[in-house]
Amino acid sequence: MRRAHLRNIQEDEYDLVVIGGGASGAGAALDAAQRGLKVILIEQGDWGGGTSSRSTKLLHGGVRYLEMALKNLDFKQLRQVKHGLSERKTMLEAAPHLAHGIPLVTPVFSWFEALYLTVGLKLYGLIAGKRQTLPGSSWISKREALRHIPMLRPEVHSAVMYHDGQFDDARYTILQVRKAQQFYTICLNYVAFFAFGKSPDGAITHVHVTDRIYGMKAIIQTKSVLNCTGAYADHVRLAANASLTPRITASKGVHITLPLPDGMKTALMIPKTSDGRLLFAIPFQGVLLLGTTDTPYEKLEFQPEITDAEVKFLLDGLNQFLGKKYTKKDVLAGFAGLRPLISEPGRGSTKQLLRDHEVETDPQSGLVSLMGGKWTTHRLMAKDAVDEICRRLDKKELVCKTETVVLPGGESWLPDGWKTLHKQNANVLSKETAIHLHQRYGSWAYKIAEICKENKAWVEPLCEGVDAIGAEVIYHARYEMATNVQDVLSRRLRIENNNFTLAYRATHAVARLLGQAFHWPDGKEEEEAVAYYEYLYERAKKTGIRINEV
Ligand SMILES: Cc1cc2nc3c(=O)[nH]c(=O)nc-3n(C[C@H](O)[C@H](O)[C@H](O)COP(=O)(O)OP(=O)(O)OC[C@H]3O[C@@H](n4cnc5c(N)ncnc54)[C@H](O)[C@@H]3O)c2cc1C
Repeated sequence: MRRAHLRNIQEDEYDLVVIGGGASGAGAALDAAQRGLKVILIEQGDWGGGTSSRSTKLLHGGVRYLEMALKNLDFKQLRQVKHGLSERKTMLEAAPHLAHGIPLVTPVFSWFEALYLTVGLKLYGLIAGKRQTLPGSSWISKREALRHIPMLRPEVHSAVMYHDGQFDDARYTILQVRKAQQFYTICLNYVAFFAFGKSPDGAITHVHVTDRIYGMKAIIQTKSVLNCTGAYADHVRLAANASLTPRITASKGVHITLPLPDGMKTALMIPKTSDGRLLFAIPFQGVLLLGTTDTPYEKLEFQPEITDAEVKFLLDGLNQFLGKKYTKKDVLAGFAGLRPLISEPGRGSTKQLLRDHEVETDPQSGLVSLMGGKWTTHRLMAKDAVDEICRRLDKKELVCKTETVVLPGGESWLPDGWKTLHKQNANVLSKETAIHLHQRYGSWAYKIAEICKENKAWVEPLCEGVDAIGAEVIYHARYEMATNVQDVLSRRLRIENNNFTLAYRATHAVARLLGQAFHWPDGKEEEEAVAYYEYLYERAKKTGIRINEV
């Protein structure tokens, strides 16, 4: 299929090539395709493999941005908070199986602190407006706070509780790609942009790409190009026009995961770390996700990694609020991402840079670049960028329709839909597996149940301690463009995101299932498993995270 696609795409002319398959690029491809444009989306790695799978996974306006906006009377920042809060609702409705509200508790140590936060969070709720579906904020007693977060230090005075959205960032990206495919977008992962072809007057007419699996090269003829490469946006901008000034300041943010205390369903928001940031400790798919940091990052040619100092910073930030402390030995996994911030003269550190976005058009080459922003506002960002593309193509009549889009699996989704799934497939799915599949694939979970019927062995969990079953891997290979073990364990099942040891233990099963799905030749399965082990060990070593092989 890949080889055929790469050959065929050279025979046509496209309205738009989108470079970059993260939140921005997948969102823009979907928007453009839904308007009726003929689109190709390329991603040099896996869908969401850049920053878009490494976020805090919150759908929010940003409590800290609200505080900064009010302190500095910064209306741009206030507008950004408002956009985030309204998009939070849109995303919750687009994929109800992947995105939901989550309560967050902020402990305070005096009534003054409690008052300050209560007023701030009430304002946050007011900005969200009447349309919001999540409960508002409230001041809660110490007893109530300890009920939500039993590990809190007993000296807390009380706490303030509010709600935001939480989602699975990588799977959301994949679903956007799949939705774009429903509108005939050609979506190619592991295909990298490397050069532009131009007309004599310097306008881009072709995009040169290379397939990173087979090494094939292709040249795509197109009327427009949208650069959605996040932290790497300047590379593409400078390839289009070497005289452009670099605009992106990348900022590294890291997360670690820890064992989740039994029954903990509420997140902890720590209002101030030693460097003045917020920290979040959030229940996510059975682990406690702790993050994040914010430090300038320049070595874009290298994958960002977590340092010992960063792990210590995160643990210290959390432990100051806890009775029983976490130690480095407790860390289960960790990952680092790069915020694609837009440089602004006069705003000193990366913490002060706006999380707003910008659509830039280079008049000489015609390249349109979508820069900055955040996950929560990706749809609005995509809309602005595709509006600009339509203006350039003289198709202003094609308007954005993504505000009410429902992603695959979100159609007719009901919280207790697992019951029907279980009833209809009781011969292959246990109640627990039906619940798990319903949460991950929504109303499309029945497709996994169908796969289970092909081979009873595929109903088995990948290894002890994980919910994921073999049929999911076959599904990822057949329908979600997974190509290797990491695509499955990291972005489709999130096991690597959450727990390196479980990722290690599931490796062989995943390699074997991919081998069955792709009819790999002898030896390839072992080769892929070993390649993944090496990658995982390297990451664990750099981060100091222990993999328990037993
Ligand atoms: C630590 C951290 C926590 C965050 N938490 C939140 C949060 O909780 N909520 C929120 O709303 N936002 C959050 N954000 C922000 C959000 O994650 C990012 O703004 C968003 O993911 C950026 O998406 P993107 O598509 O612009 O970039 P990316 O996801 O990085 O996508 C760009 C893609 O372009 C590809 N690419 C690059 N060069 C090429 C090429 N030559 N050819 C083909 N493809 C190429 C890359 O491989 C990459 O996949 C967080 C960010 C960080 C770093």
